[in-house]
Amino acid sequence: MNNPEVVIIGGGPAGLTAAYELAKKNITSITLEKSSQVGGISRTETYKGYRFDIGGHRFFTKVSEVQQLWHEVLASDMIKVPRLSRIYYDSKFFSYPLEPYNALSNLGLRNSALILASYCKTKLFPHPVEDNLEQWVTNRFGRRLYRIFFKTYTEKVWGIECDKIQADWAAQRIKGLSLKKAVLNALFKVNNTKTLIKEFEYPRLGPGMMWERFQDILNEQGNTVHLDTAVLRLDREGKRITNVVTGSGDRITQHTAKDFVSSMPITQLVQRLNPQPPDHILQAAKNLKYRDFLIVPLIIDQPNLFPDNWIYIHSPHFRVGRIQNFKNWSPEMVPDPQKTCVGMEYFCSEGDELWEKSEAELIELASREIVGLGLVDSLDQIKDGTTIRQHKAYPVYDGEYRQNLQVLQDYLKTFENLQTIGRNGMHRYNNQDHSMLTAILAAKNIAGENHDLWNVNVERSYHEDFTKEQWKSKKEQGAISPEAAQLSQREISLEKVRD
Ligand SMILES: Cc1cc2nc3c(=O)[nH]c(=O)nc-3n(C[C@H](O)[C@H](O)[C@H](O)COP(=O)(O)OP(=O)(O)OC[C@H]3O[C@@H](n4cnc5c(N)ncnc54)[C@H](O)[C@@H]3O)c2cc1C
Repeated sequence: MNNPEVVIIGGGPAGLTAAYELAKKNITSITLEKSSQVGGISRTETYKGYRFDIGGHRFFTKVSEVQQLWHEVLASDMIKVPRLSRIYYDSKFFSYPLEPYNALSNLGLRNSALILASYCKTKLFPHPVEDNLEQWVTNRFGRRLYRIFFKTYTEKVWGIECDKIQADWAAQRIKGLSLKKAVLNALFKVNNTKTLIKEFEYPRLGPGMMWERFQDILNEQGNTVHLDTAVLRLDREGKRITNVVTGSGDRITQHTAKDFVSSMPITQLVQRLNPQPPDHILQAAKNLKYRDFLIVPLIIDQPNLFPDNWIYIHSPHFRVGRIQNFKNWSPEMVPDPQKTCVGMEYFCSEGDELWEKSEAELIELASREIVGLGLVDSLDQIKDGTTIRQHKAYPVYDGEYRQNLQVLQDYLKTFENLQTIGRNGMHRYNNQDHSMLTAILAAKNIAGENHDLWNVNVERSYHEDFTKEQWKSKKEQGAISPEAAQLSQREISLEKVRD
């Protein structure tokens, strides 16, 4: 398209949703994607016919607009998957979400009594301030339970101690929960065997299938998605973007449009503006941090390895953080039914010792660990493996992120024709539904509406303590999907702390 009305940066869930929604409004666009496939962090990778996600991507949301879009695009290719996941800690497997009888028998009476005592002690002498994650969780669950079920896993994910993580990360995700409420919920919960916790949706060929279908539809419409096309520069005149400059191999191209929507990392967006923004803006961008991630898929010569979709590894003796069993997400992820493909997930930071390991070293580590965990009998059963690295998998919520993000947000808000959307686009530790909702609203803004994307908070709709009347009216308005409406808010909140 010679003169698209809108240029979209990034062909992940956010960028593609923006293009798709604009097309519905007869607004033309092109999408510029730097990598050779669409889907961003929600893509599906393939190795010798084995398919795997970057992590495992459940499709669940309370936002009915988003859910309708998934069904509109993939229809019967969306499957319902029964969910089983457990926590491995102290050589035992705990059901997750926690089930009181299973937890009690694994912990033993003595340990359970100590957990209760530690909880009572915290209730009597709580942390007077709740600035960091450790204080926040300990005040709600007691110190002992915090150490078993939060500390080790969270520190593996973030690579920093829990007392360096902002409390609002937990407050955003697990608001309204405490040990008392969790136990009451587990003991007396309504029959929810068909809720989003026990079952989730998933494209039968992995999440990438969704985004490849978006790509096909857009290309057919002439709203082309350009792969291997990285945005190198955004030229501006004052607070208006005039064009972006892309590099694709040796080719440098200039793309002009009326409006620009960006889902590339906000830090890079700011640094690629031309002329450059003032120094304090650049400094705020440099101060924002990310956590990286790598997955080591291993092909195992066993038809059925374990029944879980994934297992969290809390034991500090193992470096792996989570293990996915992609065959249990969809049988079509594995080409040979006699084999299993597991994804060993390692949280790391670019340049650290894990990140710098060679592929052979990572496969060796992952193989040793899965045998050490007792999930595979012997190394001989591991037939092959590969490695996928993901830069900027997680935006970090450290002590300074809020001030730095506010500086960028205030600056970018002054632009007349530039909107930022999505996970790294807004430095939000989000799921696909948040990225998609910001994209839908960005498209609406271009069509003349007026939404503040920085105020979009799909988490809040999970956690807000609605009154019964508010909840009823939201359901009636169709603002909450029917599946999600069945789910108690607390179940979802505990869920979201681990994605
Ligand atoms: C381990 C893990 C597990 C997850 N599990 C779930 C889950 O179960 N359910 C769920 O809903 N969500 C999950 N998520 C979150 C989900 O992956 C993200 O919410 C989603 O991918 C964000 O979409 P996005 O389009 O905003 O960003 P991204 O997916 O990051 O896409 C941004 C795109 O922009 C491109 N880009 C960047 N820079 C440039 C440039 N200069 N020029 C052109 N293109 C550029 C990138 O290549 C990328 O394709 C998980 C995330 C992780 C890390």
